[in-house]
Amino acid sequence: QPELVGDFGTLMVWADAARRMKVRANAETPLDAQTARDFGAEGIGLCRTEHMFFDAARITAVRQMILADDEKGRRVALDRLLPEQRKDFAAIFEVMAGLPVTIRLLDPPLHEFLPHREEEFAEVAEAAGVGIETLKQRANELHEFNPMLGHRGCRLGVTYPEIYEMQARAIFEAACSLAVAPVPEIMIPLVGTRRELELMKEVVDKAAEAVFAEQGKRIDYLVGTMIELPRAALMADEIAEVGAFFSFGTNDLTQTTLGVSRDDAARFLTHYVDKGIYARDPFVSLDVEGVGQLIEIAATKGRKTRPDIKLGICGEHGGDPASIEFCEKTGLDYVSASPYRVPIARLAAAQAALRKA
Ligand code: PEP
Ligand code: MG
Repeated sequence: QPELVGDFGTLMVWADAARRMKVRANAETPLDAQTARDFGAEGIGLCRTEHMFFDAARITAVRQMILADDEKGRRVALDRLLPEQRKDFAAIFEVMAGLPVTIRLLDPPLHEFLPHREEEFAEVAEAAGVGIETLKQRANELHEFNPMLGHRGCRLGVTYPEIYEMQARAIFEAACSLAVAPVPEIMIPLVGTRRELELMKEVVDKAAEAVFAEQGKRIDYLVGTMIELPRAALMADEIAEVGAFFSFGTNDLTQTTLGVSRDDAARFLTHYVDKGIYARDPFVSLDVEGVGQLIEIAATKGRKTRPDIKLGICGEHGGDPASIEFCEKTGLDYVSASPYRVPIARLAAAQAALRKA
C-alpha cells in the first residue's frame, strides 16, 4: 500500500483512528478495485455495471436484447451476456476479499445503447435475425428527446426485467463460486416510488432463490436503492420498507433538484459562481442548503422506518472534503469516492469527525 509508507502513512493511520465513517470506492474493474484497496478503500460503494457493456461484442448483445421483439430473442442475447457478467463480478469479489461490494444494476441512458450507424444496425440485424428496416423502426420508436429524464435506471428494469434478472443471477453465481463469499449489496438505480423498488427486489430475490437451489448453498445479500430523485428522498420512509440501504446519488440528485443538466451546466455555471448565485460548483461541492436538505429528510425518514438502514453517498461529492463534512454531520455510514480520492476522503472524514467532536 503506497500511502502507508513514511509520514503520509503515519498521517493516514491517525486519520483512520479518528474517523467514524467508512470510506469506499467507486470501481467497476478489478484494476480499479485493486487501486482502491491500495489506497485504503474498505469496500466498493458503487460498481456502475453499464460501464461493463461498452465492449463491441457486448454492446451488440445489449442492442439485440433491447431491440428484439420477442422473449426468445432477448433470452439469446442475455444468455450470451450471463457468463461474461459472472466473470466480471467474480473478479471484483476476489479482489475485494469479503469486503462489501455494492453493485448497481444497469443504468444506461438508452440512447447510449441504441445503434446509430449503418454497420451497427447490420451487426444487430445479423445477431438477432431481424431485418435492418424493422430494427431502425424499433430504434426510432425508442428515441427520446430527454434521455437523462427518460427510459433509464430502474425504468429499464421495469420494462425489461430479464436484464436485471440476468445481472442478479450473475452476481449470485459469482458469489457462490468463491471460497470467501462476499455479501453483495444489490442497488437499484433511479427509484422514485416504493412499488418500483418492490418490483425490482422481487426480480432479484427470485434470481437468488433459483441460484441457491441450483448450487445447494445460500449466501447473505442486501437489496437497496439509490436516492437520486427528490421524490425518493421525500418518500424515503415508504421506500425503506423495501430497501435495506440507501446510497445518495448526488450527481443526479443535484441535477434533478436544481433542474440543471449535469452534462450541460459547464456553459453557465462559472457565471453563476462568479456572481455568487452558487457558492461553488454544485456538481463538485454539495449544495448543502437545497440538496443537503433532501438528504437529511431521506436519512431521517429512512431511519424512522428502519433504524439500522445503511446510508452512504456515491455521487462525485463523496470525494469532496466539504461535502464529506456534511455527510458526517448527517450521520451517514460511509462515503464512496473514485479510487484516487480515497486518501483525501479518509483524511476529510477524520477532520469532519474531529470537528464534530
Ligand atoms: C449519481 O447520480 O450520483 C450516481 C452516482 O450515479 P451516476 O453518476 O452513474 O448517474
Ligand atoms: Mg445517477
